[in-house]
Amino acid sequence: MLALLEDMASVLATKNIENIFFKKFIRTKPSSEIDALIHKHNQIISKQIDCTACANCCKKLEPGVDDAEIVQLAKHANSSPEVFKNNFILFDGVSCFLKTKPCMFLKENKCSIYSNRPTACADYPHLNGINLKYKSSLWNNYSVCPIVFNVIENVKEELGFVYAK
Ligand code: SF4
Ligand code: SF4
Repeated sequence: MLALLEDMASVLATKNIENIFFKKFIRTKPSSEIDALIHKHNQIISKQIDCTACANCCKKLEPGVDDAEIVQLAKHANSSPEVFKNNFILFDGVSCFLKTKPCMFLKENKCSIYSNRPTACADYPHLNGINLKYKSSLWNNYSVCPIVFNVIENVKEELGFVYAK
């Protein structure tokens, strides 16, 4: 059964240990097999979830942005890139992130700059890549995004993974 954001909140605490065992379980499986299952269930689940009723990623995360995207975002905010960068961008020494939470461009639970949103936003929840089982972002996003949560739960079921408490 599809779990929505409110359902996830009630079960996440109970999934921490289960997921440690699941990560060990899929370590024994070929990466390509896990990728294929994640891609398949992403196709199914993402059609069933209404992102405009969720927007959790836009409320909880700080998307990565490059210099060109900062210029575009500054225009949308009627600001200069320098002022925008000083006020709204976090630099961690390697990369830049839009640091407003919820995102300053989220209006009425929708992205107000949707067609110009940063690549990191357009690509979220990043389930189309490869070697996904090794990516820490997969497990971070499991607790943020109902798509990721449901995809992983479906993959567990398809692989016959059972967590014996
Ligand atoms: S991508 Fe995930 S977290 Fe973001 S709005 Fe859609 S379901 Fe919610
Ligand atoms: S730019 Fe749009 S898609 Fe990206 S976090 Fe902000 S509201 Fe969400």
